[in-house]
Amino acid sequence: MRIAMFNPSESERAIVKGIAAKQGIEVKLVDDILTPESVVEAKDCDGISILQTVMLDQEEVYRTLHDYGIKSIGLRSVGTNTIDFDLAKKYDLIITHVPVYSPRAIAEMAVTQAMYLVRKIGLFHEHMDKDYDFSYPTALISDEIYNKTIGLIGVGNIGSAVAQIFSALGAKVIAYDVIYNPANEPFLTYADFDTVIKEADVISLHTPLLPSTKNMISTKQFEEMKNTAYLINVARGGLIDTDALIKALQEEQIAGAGLDTLADEATYFGKKVRVQDIPEDYKILRAMPNVIITPHSAYFTETAVKNMVKISLEDTVRIAEGKKPLFAANK
Ligand code: NAD
Repeated sequence: MRIAMFNPSESERAIVKGIAAKQGIEVKLVDDILTPESVVEAKDCDGISILQTVMLDQEEVYRTLHDYGIKSIGLRSVGTNTIDFDLAKKYDLIITHVPVYSPRAIAEMAVTQAMYLVRKIGLFHEHMDKDYDFSYPTALISDEIYNKTIGLIGVGNIGSAVAQIFSALGAKVIAYDVIYNPANEPFLTYADFDTVIKEADVISLHTPLLPSTKNMISTKQFEEMKNTAYLINVARGGLIDTDALIKALQEEQIAGAGLDTLADEATYFGKKVRVQDIPEDYKILRAMPNVIITPHSAYFTETAVKNMVKISLEDTVRIAEGKKPLFAANK
């Protein structure tokens, strides 16, 4: 069995040999993303695995894969928005993805950012770096996490892992979700959206980005939050109205923010860019000592990367062997 793996990242290259050996398959690494030019690399293969960064909407690619006898396109990611599902259907191609690869990876980043903010580490650094001031001003005194109320919006795979970790640390966890899940009850108390916004010391977002969740945190919510509250977003940038966030921070309506995602991140996260290409909102937020930004790297753990490759290849092999995939995106 031979699988063509398009666009392998540096970290995937480091682990794929071991995974392939365990699965008893051969993996052909193709530097490019899947395009009408690179699709020929799949000719001698039984399946393909891709990490697509741009829209795959050229009919020629789907037709060529079909002509090569390939039955599926395996995405090594959660998102399937780069796929043209009509073309996939036309050429009998099953699309698989990796919906869950390590909720803990993302959850731990939310907790890490919250701890960084609660212990005012950025503010200490500012004093240390700018003024060589290593003293303990009252303004920098923190509290301890077990005295805090953590408010979660969305408690699916990731949000529930966040609840478990904070609950283990002794914090009170309240959460709002459109779906009630009794399995979460040992770790949190369900509350309505407004209560979470008003009562939490740390508000952490874990919903998908949908028309109904876009800018769910905006001027009104910042006005309602405690001015000592921290906002964490390791979900999707579009959940927060960035201009309203900047204003809330500048006017001290909230105490700080932890951000692994920003609404405009697509143009600069995940790559090296020129300084002139960095947007103003990022620069303003990054300069604030009470804001911690990570470049959508919450997922970037050895376990998560390994699981993405392993699960994607497993499903591709299953389909090539005529078995039902575990994570088909076009049912
Ligand atoms: P999930 O589907 O398991 O959970 C999402 C939860 O949000 C569900 O329980 C759902 O009922 C709830 N929800 C939907 N609409 C809601 C609303 N309007 N109000 C309240 N709750 C609502 O998803 P997940 O795997 O836990 O992922 C959560 C988020 O994390 C997604 O936005 C995903 O894109 C993001 N994510 C980020 C990274 C990263 O590296 N930063 C990695 C993976 C996922």
